[in-house]
Amino acid sequence: MKEIGIIRMLDRMGRIVIPKEFRKQLGMENEVDSFEITMEENRIVLRKYEPHCIFCGGTENCTDFRDQTVCIDCLRDLQQIETETPPNAVSTEE
Ligand SMILES: [Zn+2]
Repeated sequence: MKEIGIIRMLDRMGRIVIPKEFRKQLGMENEVDSFEITMEENRIVLRKYEPHCIFCGGTENCTDFRDQTVCIDCLRDLQQIETETPPNAVSTEE
């Protein structure tokens, strides 16, 4: 991937304007689009934020479940565990 460099100044609040061409290339021209910001060694990396499954990291067929994002495949696996566990699996010591 070819690197394209554009120099931008931070403002007093630490904000920076992401070049319009970059946003357009990522299909991020709406105010509701989000970036995920990470540090990789001495770089600040911005990625287009896409909700991903907390179990497999997949971004396809995701849904929210109790404030977490889970894909349909992992949800099915969880349901399978639920039905495979016998009702007396949890022992209660008295
Ligand atoms: Zn998953």
